[in-house]
Amino acid sequence: MRGAQTLTPASLPAPVWVVAPHPDDEALGCGGLIAALGAAGREVRALLLSDGGLSHPSSPSHPRERLAGARLAEWQAGLAELGVPAARTRTLGLPDGELHACAEAITRGALAAFREAPPGTLLLPWARDPHPDHRAAWAPLLRAARAFPGVRLLAYTVWLEERGDPADHPRPGETRPLTLDVRPWLAPKRRAIRAHRTQLGLIADDPRGFSLPTSLVGRALNGTETYHEVAPQEVPA
Ligand SMILES: [Zn+2]
Repeated sequence: MRGAQTLTPASLPAPVWVVAPHPDDEALGCGGLIAALGAAGREVRALLLSDGGLSHPSSPSHPRERLAGARLAEWQAGLAELGVPAARTRTLGLPDGELHACAEAITRGALAAFREAPPGTLLLPWARDPHPDHRAAWAPLLRAARAFPGVRLLAYTVWLEERGDPADHPRPGETRPLTLDVRPWLAPKRRAIRAHRTQLGLIADDPRGFSLPTSLVGRALNGTETYHEVAPQEVPA
């Protein structure tokens, strides 16, 4: 990305909290960085907002409760591949697809989780990442982040390159773009993504079921991760 600076994982203040609206966002958006942070001895913690229970609404084999349980197990398995043990994960269990109606619960839940280990750095989905749940998480998470002065805020993207409009991309000067060469971490990142088997065709009995686009997975494994740093004081209240 033009004008982007190089991100040095070891320079990020710890603990680094990564917030995922759905299980798999952390692996797709920041799997390389999470693995690199672990290798650099930085503590990484993860917070999952939704139950992920909406990806296969008509599956006889995976009614919502079973699907949500499977996705939680996949999330923790994927994070373990990246060096984050289950003991450093927290979940809010909010309804997948309805985060727009959960602003207060996101702020309250994130605050409670963050207070256990005050974040030095927060990785969160970009404000205009084109998925309604991702967008809905932005403002409530920033409200929670305000309780931790000096926290570094790095936005990651999942759907932006796949289906974003030009207006969804950060405008020049709106963020500080940072790129990370994640080629040394592609093996664990690939394993972390592959842990999300329900999102990769495992459930065959739902014609309306979701599957991660091959193009999106390919982009996530292209060897570079881009982050958009925002300064807390520049974020509108
Ligand atoms: Zn997502």
